Amino acid sequence: MTVAVSPFPASLSRSMTDPFGRTITYLRVSVTDRCDLRCFYCMSEDMTFLPKADLLTLEELDRLCSAFIAKGVKKLRLTGGEPLVRRNVMSLVRSLSRHLASGALNELTLTTNGSQLARFAAELADCGVRRINVSLDTLDADKFRAITRWGDLDKVLAGIEAARAAGLAVKINAVALKGMNEDEIPSLMQWAHGKGMGLTLIEVMPMGEIGSGRIDQYVPLSLVRARLSQRYTLTDLDETTGGPARYVKVGETGGKLGFITPMTHNFCESCNRVRITCTGTIHTCLGQEDASDLRKPLRASPDDELLAATIDRAIGLKPKGHDFIIDRRHNRPSVSRHMSVTGG
Ligand code: SAM
Ligand code: SF4
Repeated sequence: MTVAVSPFPASLSRSMTDPFGRTITYLRVSVTDRCDLRCFYCMSEDMTFLPKADLLTLEELDRLCSAFIAKGVKKLRLTGGEPLVRRNVMSLVRSLSRHLASGALNELTLTTNGSQLARFAAELADCGVRRINVSLDTLDADKFRAITRWGDLDKVLAGIEAARAAGLAVKINAVALKGMNEDEIPSLMQWAHGKGMGLTLIEVMPMGEIGSGRIDQYVPLSLVRARLSQRYTLTDLDETTGGPARYVKVGETGGKLGFITPMTHNFCESCNRVRITCTGTIHTCLGQEDASDLRKPLRASPDDELLAATIDRAIGLKPKGHDFIIDRRHNRPSVSRHMSVTGG
């Protein structure tokens, strides 16, 4: 008889189930807070980034991710900031891909603005990445520049084509922005579905100071959906990802459309995810200020005993849910950290 031997140390053998019975199987890791764009809803133009010395090294990120995989994470998403602007990020992807090969991890994926994809698509595919999310709010080059402040739409479109050519399944994420891309949503959807790509719409979330009011940007997706229903046949799909997205099938295009509605819908009861930042802070809820530091235990000892205990403690404190509000009287974000720090 052969006995399966876990490749991970015993200290990491406890799986992660929080006090509300939710088991954590999905980890999102922000590998950098930096970005080559400045989307106006995400950061201000003169955004201050973290001192480089505060960042975990790629080796430390690998060790941290591997600890979570040992503790039951099956899906790992790299994000940012822009993950593909972190120097040498592909060495991290390459090294994490060993967990795909061993079967410990089911999926390694990333969320990117697409600006650097043309360079990295083939290598991502070679590392076992099968699907990626590309954030793109408009197909109008001038609007794209207005939204991202200095982005080049053609570069992103070329990145998307490179990813498709490399065999990666691409899903487009678009933030619905009042007076900016609201009217373009049907054409964005037609374009994405025409290329066999899903489209997921996101409501603006009140995270971080960005230098202008959020209320001006917010469009409820219930309204977007109602408008789309007048032109398209939308059929609810049962699938859920344990996250805030709900999906419909669009009869006329045959494609999938997702709605991420943190402001209008409560999805917390099925939440299976936690996030870590590039400095090694774990946030167990996107919409709360909860945080625990994993960098200290990671650096304190080369074995993972202390780290595992700190992770367990953090999971034990996972809040039941969030309470996002756009503070109308003071027009302040309800969570002070930026999406680029937590990774969305
Ligand atoms: N730079 C990469 C990108 O843009 O895909 C990854 C990080 S970005 C923070 C992840 C996602 O968060 C993007 O789809 C972006 O549009 C979205 N996002 C950023 N700030 C947001 C906000 N305040 N509300 C809702 N979505 C936001
Ligand atoms: Fe950069 Fe992504 Fe934020 Fe845009 S949404 S500024 S691409 S991190």
